[in-house]
Amino acid sequence: RVAECEATRRKLHNTILTLKGNIRVFCRVRPLAPCSPDVEKLETGQPVLAFPPVGDAMTAGVELTASNGNKNTFTFDHVFGPTASQEDVFEEVSLLVQSALDGYKVCIFAYGQTGSGKTHTMLGTPDQAGLIPRAVEQLFTAARELEVSQGWTFEMKASMLEIYNEEYKDLLGKGPPSGKKHTVTHDERAGTTAVSYLEGVECADPEAVRTLLERAARLRAVGATAANERSSRSHMVFLLSIRGANAATGQRLNGMLNLIDLAGSERLKTSGANGERLKETQAINKSLSALGDVIAALGSREAHIPYRNSKLTWLLQGCLGGDAKMLMIANVAPTLSAANESLCSLRFAAKVNATEIGTARRSTSFAK
Ligand code: ADP
Ligand code: MG
Repeated sequence: RVAECEATRRKLHNTILTLKGNIRVFCRVRPLAPCSPDVEKLETGQPVLAFPPVGDAMTAGVELTASNGNKNTFTFDHVFGPTASQEDVFEEVSLLVQSALDGYKVCIFAYGQTGSGKTHTMLGTPDQAGLIPRAVEQLFTAARELEVSQGWTFEMKASMLEIYNEEYKDLLGKGPPSGKKHTVTHDERAGTTAVSYLEGVECADPEAVRTLLERAARLRAVGATAANERSSRSHMVFLLSIRGANAATGQRLNGMLNLIDLAGSERLKTSGANGERLKETQAINKSLSALGDVIAALGSREAHIPYRNSKLTWLLQGCLGGDAKMLMIANVAPTLSAANESLCSLRFAAKVNATEIGTARRSTSFAK
């Protein structure tokens, strides 16, 4: 009965994706910083963000009052208010995560300005685990079940890397020997991506999964202090590659789950910046706009998709487009001082939301 119920849920999920295309967009509004209510308060006493009802069960609305008093309303596939828990968020993405075990390529992005809750959403804290630890545990458990019940064998390998100033850096391993660089190669036929000199942690048993998550948690701890500045200026990518084989049926699959904590999207005045800061800003602008350009090109079914324009899109090219599934979570802070940046984030997310990838329209206009 439970398996039947689960199968129905998954079918429904896939039907929704077929109707909507393979891009979904959520918005998450973080609460006011709980430990410093005096430092961070609703400056006007009026909430900057409200959640008006939209006349549609499939979407949700969020309304932002800008500093000039103008109201802007957006609709997304889902909107999480400040009281939404990590469980609430994961419940909405668990089927998407699960599809990586069916051989799909999945990308989940956290987009937003620094301090909007991206890292909380992706990594979380030891007592409020985010998407990465929850996804790894769910997939690991589900893979073990399929091994026992249906004769599959799965090999799951996790890596974490940072993209800073348009350079890849391994976060779990030592990285390349001096004089060498990480390079990314895609095998389109096999549906796999390989990054040279990148350490992959095999999730072979619960112990390995725990070790991996501890390493991720340590990373988060560092992120809270010394490297926080840098972490907001770089993209963090968690990659889980899944190879499945079923000896009984001869089936094989290559799934991939990418969870991406993007660099802060805040616009910096490039005029005043120089040296290292200017270089960082340019690198972030370049890669975030490259991501937007790739999504737009996929949506308008262009023959040339500009994956090469940034290290981020180059790394993810095998997992963007085709029947790959994408979710963007626009993180926003609830304060008035963040309102202008929140508006930019919501506009970017709305543009992504208006893009259709992999709908029925596409399959008729693309010969297989
Ligand atoms: P970002 O990664 O976008 O810069 P963080 O995830 O570091 O932002 O969030 C900024 C601060 O707000 C952190 O102290 C974080 O713990 C807290 N925070 C963010 N989102 C939430 C949330 N949903 N619930 C509780 N605290 C949150
Ligand atoms: Mg962060």
